[in-house]
Amino acid sequence: MPHDWEEFDDVITAGTCCPTPDCGALAVAYRATDGVEHDDAEPWEFTCPRCGMEFAVPEDELVLQSVPKDWLLAKVHAA
Ligand SMILES: [Zn+2]
Repeated sequence: MPHDWEEFDDVITAGTCCPTPDCGALAVAYRATDGVEHDDAEPWEFTCPRCGMEFAVPEDELVLQSVPKDWLLAKVHAA
C-alpha cells in the first residue's frame, strides 16, 4: 500500500470488514478532503490488507466512518 496519503492534512477514513469468508480483516480506505471533489453517493473502495480482496461498500454500510486517521491506523496496526 502506498503511503503518499499520509502527507495530506485533511483525510477522512473509513473502515469495514472484508467480505471474504474466513477472512473478515479490517480494511481501511481514505479520502483527502483537501480540494478533492467527490460524489457522496460513490461507494468507498477497499483493498483487504490480509487477502487482497478489492471491494466497494456504500457509505451508509460502513462499519467505521470518518474517524481520525491516527486512531484507525493504530487499530489496524494492533490487529
Ligand atoms: Zn480479506
